Amino acid sequence: MVRAEHIVKSFGSNNVLKDISLTVERGQVLCLIGPSGSGKSTLLRCINHLETIDGGRLWVEDELIGYRQKGDKLYELNPNEVAAQRADIGMVFQRFNLFPHMTVLENIIEAPMRVKKIKKKAAVETAMQLLDQVGLAHKAKSYPGHLSGGQQQRVAIARALAMKPKLMLFDEPTSALDPELVNEVLNVMKQLADDGMTMVVVTHEMAFARDVGDHLVFMDRGVVVEEGDPKEIISNPQHERTRSFLARVL
Ligand code: ATP
Ligand code: MG
Repeated sequence: MVRAEHIVKSFGSNNVLKDISLTVERGQVLCLIGPSGSGKSTLLRCINHLETIDGGRLWVEDELIGYRQKGDKLYELNPNEVAAQRADIGMVFQRFNLFPHMTVLENIIEAPMRVKKIKKKAAVETAMQLLDQVGLAHKAKSYPGHLSGGQQQRVAIARALAMKPKLMLFDEPTSALDPELVNEVLNVMKQLADDGMTMVVVTHEMAFARDVGDHLVFMDRGVVVEEGDPKEIISNPQHERTRSFLARVL
């Protein structure tokens, strides 16, 4: 479903991603861990072309992201083509990025109506199903500011799902939450994984990575240091850098 080959990305002289390759099979959950500044968010942002890459190639379901290939050459896609690719990839960030002046329901139907030209009645129907799925049907008419952080994050997940994405990207979706609100969000993500969604999750929630993740990737300073079965890596890390990182987060 996701195939990254030899991804290279710099910001000025800062080489943030140095030859990253990874794959995520359809229906699998890849958890991405690593110290602050190791390039996790940048890699995630490359997957939906919020960042351009300096080298390598990235496919989501056999579609080359951000570029068209002719012979050996790559040509950048135009903004409409990029937007079309992005519409199939849901993303949930650390900070709740709901529109504050719209109700929960309006937040969820906005993109399907605007981008996918879905009629309002159908968009509302889907939105209500999704709100039900994340346990927030009763908050449809509330404004984001009147919800807890955990509820806002569940709405953000419902909003991403409303676009019927092939792939969901999560960038530390629970790290800005009060500890007692973390599980309600993780439970929604676990449900999504159980329903077969393909997911890439940057997280420091090691219990989630162990129980829900199919594959764990540990990144440090722009390289993949170690990857494999989450249970094995967590209980028996092979590299010193993985060991010292896990000792800090476990
Ligand atoms: P954290 O755990 O703190 O979220 P991270 O692993 O997600 O860290 P990134 O946000 O990917 O790390 O950042 C990797 C490096 O790239 C950092 O040195 C950061 O300062 C740099 N960086 C990220 N985005 C930009 C940008 N838009 N412009 C310049 N430098 C950037
Ligand atoms: Mg980050």
